[in-house]
Amino acid sequence: MLDLRREYEYMKRDIDLSLEKCLGHQKWILGPEIEELENKLAAYLGVKHCVGVSSGTEALVISLRALAIKMKDEEYFSKEEVIITTPFTFTATGDAILRSGATPVFVDIDMATYNIDVNKIKGCLNSTSNVIGIIPVHLYGMACRMDKIMSMAKEHNLFVLEDVAQAFGGMWNGQKLGAIGTVGAFSFFPSKNLGCFGDGGMIATNDDKIAEIGRMLLKHGGKDKYDVMHIGYNARLDTIQAAVLLAKLKYVDEFNVHRNKIAEIYNEELKGMEGLSLPVFDVKCVYHQYTVRTSRRKDLQTYLKEKGISTMIYYPVPLHRQRLFHKNSQILKNLDRSEIASSEVLSLPIGPCQTEEDTMYVASVIKDFFKV
Ligand SMILES: *Cc1c(COP(=O)(O)O)cnc(C)c1O
Repeated sequence: MLDLRREYEYMKRDIDLSLEKCLGHQKWILGPEIEELENKLAAYLGVKHCVGVSSGTEALVISLRALAIKMKDEEYFSKEEVIITTPFTFTATGDAILRSGATPVFVDIDMATYNIDVNKIKGCLNSTSNVIGIIPVHLYGMACRMDKIMSMAKEHNLFVLEDVAQAFGGMWNGQKLGAIGTVGAFSFFPSKNLGCFGDGGMIATNDDKIAEIGRMLLKHGGKDKYDVMHIGYNARLDTIQAAVLLAKLKYVDEFNVHRNKIAEIYNEELKGMEGLSLPVFDVKCVYHQYTVRTSRRKDLQTYLKEKGISTMIYYPVPLHRQRLFHKNSQILKNLDRSEIASSEVLSLPIGPCQTEEDTMYVASVIKDFFKV
């Protein structure tokens, strides 16, 4: 799907230099690269604070825990407190809600963008009591309708936690994704648009209090580990991962532009084909994935595999169909679109170092498939 080796070769000099610096100073825990990265990312995103954490999942959990502590002066939310999100996302989005003590309520998606349907959020707010926040997920690198989401949040006094795991560098209306809501949670998992060499994540916020609590939570829950104030975690970002990220940050915009070029080739080559829906995005996308939809998914995936092309299904099971969430969430009746998407989506190869020729080859094999 994604050639990480090719990416490394492309940035090798910068990455190796950055890693050698770490080998020299040996400050593996909260070394100087962490602060440097946090400052650079805050400037890049246009936020006051960035806080490095150990993964995207922990970024979501710590954001929610910090919100609970700030809003209620309690360690956790309560089960009666409800957070709106999409069921068509990675497990971690819903899991983080449960780990913060709250209950997820799943709202169906918009079929054009696969993101949460803002009109359905409105319906959910009218029919559900005790909603405290919204977690929009910018799936596949595509921005959610942040204008609508922010105005609903304002009207109903809700927090907004953006799940930006798949959309580093993406924009909405001139603002970077992750800088618009109350908090943004990023992942640096190796396959993400900005990925490190293991697990990593980050919280972005303009809220001093949330940043301050977040910093405590990732270091056992206190400013001083022998005088803890909160139920914390050991969830620091590793110095060595920050070093990798510092080297790769210089390339991320160029890479996102390249992802758009690949997407344009697919758009052009695959348009107008019977039985195949292409992504239709009306705003700029950073194409973490290029995802098509077809009722013949299984056969298409097998056909591509036979020709040496690997594809992935993100996500085969919507959250409300998984046992954990079935038991512990509020499930609205109509989640049909998420179900259809889960049974029909297929993500094609896309990456910052994928060549035009490789992309044309994938497109030609897909065209062959739909011809027969
Ligand atoms: C990857 C991802 C996460 C979790 O990030 P990790 O770094 O793997 O913990 C959360 N939400 C979404 C939408 C993701 O794609």
